[in-house]
Amino acid sequence: MHGPEGDIAEATQPATAGADPAASALHARLTGLLAEVSREALQGEDLEAVLRRIVECLVRNLPVAIASIILLDDDGQHFVHETWAGDLDLYPAELANGWPISVGAAGRCARTGEAQRITDVDTDPDYVPGNTRVRSEYLVPIRHRARLHGVLNIESTRADFFDQAACDVFDAIADQVAGAIHLARVVAELETANRKLQALSMIDGLTGIANRRCFDQRLASDWEWLAAESRELALVLIDADAFKPLNDAHGHLYGDECLRELARLCTRFADGGNDLVARFGGEELVLLLPGRSLEAAVALGEALRRDVEAAGMPHDASTIASCVTVSVGVSAVTPSKARSPERLLAAADRALYAAKAQGRNRVVAALTGD
Ligand code: GH3
Ligand code: MG
Ligand code: MG
Repeated sequence: MHGPEGDIAEATQPATAGADPAASALHARLTGLLAEVSREALQGEDLEAVLRRIVECLVRNLPVAIASIILLDDDGQHFVHETWAGDLDLYPAELANGWPISVGAAGRCARTGEAQRITDVDTDPDYVPGNTRVRSEYLVPIRHRARLHGVLNIESTRADFFDQAACDVFDAIADQVAGAIHLARVVAELETANRKLQALSMIDGLTGIANRRCFDQRLASDWEWLAAESRELALVLIDADAFKPLNDAHGHLYGDECLRELARLCTRFADGGNDLVARFGGEELVLLLPGRSLEAAVALGEALRRDVEAAGMPHDASTIASCVTVSVGVSAVTPSKARSPERLLAAADRALYAAKAQGRNRVVAALTGD
C-alpha cells in the first residue's frame, strides 16, 4: 500500500489558497499527476498499453488501493474490457461475454451517465465486491463528446475516502482518459482504414482480381527473388478477341460480364501459392507464374484458351467463332539482376501480337532468346 490512505481527504480540508502548505503540496502533486496522465494519454499507441500506464500511474501517485478502467462495447450496453492496477488484488467480473450495464455500481454509472460516489460499499444496493477489503469507491463516466467509452473506477480501503476535492481530480482524470481512448481508437481506425485502402488500391474494381499496380509490384519483386534463386519466371498475356465488336453488338454491360468471367477462368489457373492473376488493362489479363518453364506456361495458356471457348459466352459479331475467344502470348526467362523485367513483358507482348496476326484464338510462345 502506498502511504496512509487519507492523504487527499486530510490535505484538502478548506484552506486559504496559498496559505496551507499541505494544500499547496497536494495541489502540486495532483497537477503533476494530471500532467503525467496527460502525457500517457497522448501516446496514442496501443490502447491497452496506454490504459495500463494510466491506472499504474494512478495507484503509484495516489493513496488508493485499486484503479481500473472498464470499457464499454460500441453499443454502450456491455462492459467488455477491464484494465486495472492496485495494491489489492481485484477479482474482475467474468467479462468473456460482456458484463451488462444493468449490473453493478459501474453499470449504474454507465446507465445514468453520472459519477457515483459510494461512501460505504456495504450500504450500496448495486455494489459487487471485487475485493472484500474495499470500503469506498468512486466511479466516473469516461465520455468523449457524445460517446460514453466506459467507467473510471477508484477504490479505497477507507470508508468515505472520496471527498469533493478528490472527486474533482478523478473527474479531470476521466476526461484525460476519455481523450486517450478517443485518440487510440482514432489511430486504430486510421490504421485499419489504411490497411483496407492499401488492399483496395491493389484490386481491380470490375473483376475483383489484382490490378496493374499490384502486377507491376509483383513482377518487380518476383524478378528479384527468382534472380537470386536462378529460377524461371513465366508470363501468360491474355487478350480477348474482337472485344470492341462485342461491346458494339451486345453492349458494354455484357462486355463487362464477359471480362468478369474471363477473370474467373484465369483465376482457376493461378493455382501455385505464388501465382498471380491480374487485369493488365482493358480487355487484357495476365498470369505471372514463378518457377514455371515456357513449356509449362504454354500448356497452361492452351488449357485456358480452350476453357474460354468451352465457356461459350455468345459473341455475335466475332469473325473467329460464335463465342468469346482469347489470344495468348507466353514468355519465360530466368531473371537476372543485370536485366529488367520489361524484357519478359515485351516478349509476351510480341508473342501475343503474333497470335493475333496468325488468326486469333490461339497461343503463341515467345521465341527462344527473345
Ligand atoms: P483484337 O482481337 O485485336 O484484340 O480486337 P479488340 O476489339 O479486342 O481490340 P481493341 O484494342 O480494338 O479493343 C479493345 C476493346 O476493349 C475496346 C474497349 O472498349 C474494350 N474494353 C476495354 N476495357 C473494357 C471494359 O472494362 N469493359 C468493356 N465492356 N469493354 C472494355
Ligand atoms: Mg487489347
Ligand atoms: Mg482484344
